[in-house]
Amino acid sequence: MPVSGLAPYDEGNIFARILRGEIPARKVLEDDFALAFHDIAPQAPVHVLVIPKGPYVSVADFSRKASPAEISGFWHAVAETARKLGLEDAGFRVLTNMGHDAGQEVPHFHVHIFGGQPLGPMLA
Ligand code: C5P
Repeated sequence: MPVSGLAPYDEGNIFARILRGEIPARKVLEDDFALAFHDIAPQAPVHVLVIPKGPYVSVADFSRKASPAEISGFWHAVAETARKLGLEDAGFRVLTNMGHDAGQEVPHFHVHIFGGQPLGPMLA
């Protein structure tokens, strides 16, 4: 069931539980600001999620409430993750879903990194 990208933050959401170490994830990178891990249902040869460590529901919530250090740290982690995965040369796609119409399933802000093959015009 898609969630609202403007709902209050739910500490019980699955990515919050991954951040607390209650649920395992195949980590690619972790630093003070972000965690990157492989998606459990990959939609491309490489499909990784990057999430901020702070409690933000969606891209709008994150962009409004996170500090400049958190925002810059998060995007630095996205670039570092792509570099670690060897995607920078061939390229990759970064996508975020917000709210019902985009089909956001997990109410903790995340970006998808897709790569590993030519991706075509869209990959949802
Ligand atoms: O952007 P959206 O909220 O739709 O994407 C959620 C993503 O989280 C899905 O791609 C899903 O496969 C992934 N997921 C995961 N590990 C979980 C639960 C969901 O990688 N335990």
